[in-house]
Amino acid sequence: MNDMILLKPGELVLKGLNRHFFEDRLRANVARRLRSLGDFRITSVQSTIYVEPLSEDIDMEEAFRRCHQIFGIIAVCRAAACPKEKEAIARTAVEYLGEQLSRAKSFKVESKRSDKTFPMTSIQLSQYVGGVIGDAFPDLPADMHDPDLEVNVEIREQAAYVHAGGEPAAGGLPVGTCGRAVSLLSGGIDSPVATWMIARRGVQIIPVHFFSFPYTSELAKQKVLDLAKLLLPWCGRLTVEIIPFTHIQEEIRDKCPEPYFTLIMRRFMMRLSQEVALANGCGALVTGENLGQVASQTMEALRCTEAPLTLPVLRPLIGMDKEEIIRRARELGTFETSILPYEDCCTVFTPKHPRTRPTPEEVAEAESVLDVEALIKEALAGTERVQIKHES
Ligand code: ATP
Ligand code: MG
Repeated sequence: MNDMILLKPGELVLKGLNRHFFEDRLRANVARRLRSLGDFRITSVQSTIYVEPLSEDIDMEEAFRRCHQIFGIIAVCRAAACPKEKEAIARTAVEYLGEQLSRAKSFKVESKRSDKTFPMTSIQLSQYVGGVIGDAFPDLPADMHDPDLEVNVEIREQAAYVHAGGEPAAGGLPVGTCGRAVSLLSGGIDSPVATWMIARRGVQIIPVHFFSFPYTSELAKQKVLDLAKLLLPWCGRLTVEIIPFTHIQEEIRDKCPEPYFTLIMRRFMMRLSQEVALANGCGALVTGENLGQVASQTMEALRCTEAPLTLPVLRPLIGMDKEEIIRRARELGTFETSILPYEDCCTVFTPKHPRTRPTPEEVAEAESVLDVEALIKEALAGTERVQIKHES
């Protein structure tokens, strides 16, 4: 049996002249994601991507599962290919969909011909295949209006394909088609969701994590690497940049007025992230910030924390409710890891009375006692890079 997978690209079909760029990237992303399972032929014809295994022993179940996590695809469908002859098509339908046909309460055959040289009309082909299925499953009634199982036959350029319909997939745009961004990844619930949302818009992500050893532990760092591992299938490639943050935090604690601790700390995070972004050709920063969630996420505080930047900050969660974010995190599978109780550097040296309506001028004044440039340079020099690898 010629078991294969059909992928339906999403928005990229709307991209007009750029379309080849999007399609090529999507095919390359699919190829990279499936490579460890064996050799595939991946082609696109008429807005469908065909994924055909080149050997019998390939785990197609796993290939199918992986295709659900590739951005740029809105539907995935397992199918069987066969020669464009009516007998072969009917036989393939009976064999390939046999299990589903034997469980179904009713069925219908739906045929499509994009190869108009095929000698039967769609209706004739559906009737023929329906007749053969009816003979093979005499207790299974046909139902043209509300069938339990729809048997799809597609006559295309290279072959005929038989399948029982597709499933919704990840949507979005192929990673790598919308540039690169640095994502500030803490161990919390929000930032993994934010990272995923921006990756879904076709952005290649470079995660950055600020690490305040010994105030935050090795376990806290490992938690972030675990979160990155969960995001990897979606993001394609991930190398986490772990930036030492202890000295900066101690300097802030020792020299700055307490109500500004968090704001100044967050300005350092932004500046360091921007340095990483500029060094890696990124066009933006991504955070899990959410309006009004904490003192450092009021409008005034957001203005102060982004004031030292030239790059835009993308905050995909800005208007979401916590419940919605949690739901996303659960669907994504990051929630359980995010709620492990290891502390984040944001929770050390938190002020008792943080400024919630600061101005950029007063924050700049409060941090003016620090040698910002030297601290940034020192932290960047200590950066550790961890390439995240797939399980298999
Ligand atoms: P999260 O659940 O993502 O930790 P949060 O609601 O706890 O978010 P904050 O701790 O104020 O909010 O952090 C806001 C954002 O700043 C985070 O979403 C993340 O993007 C970034 N951030 C916070 N701490 C770190 C860190 N240690 N390393 C990298 N980024 C961080
Ligand atoms: Mg946090």
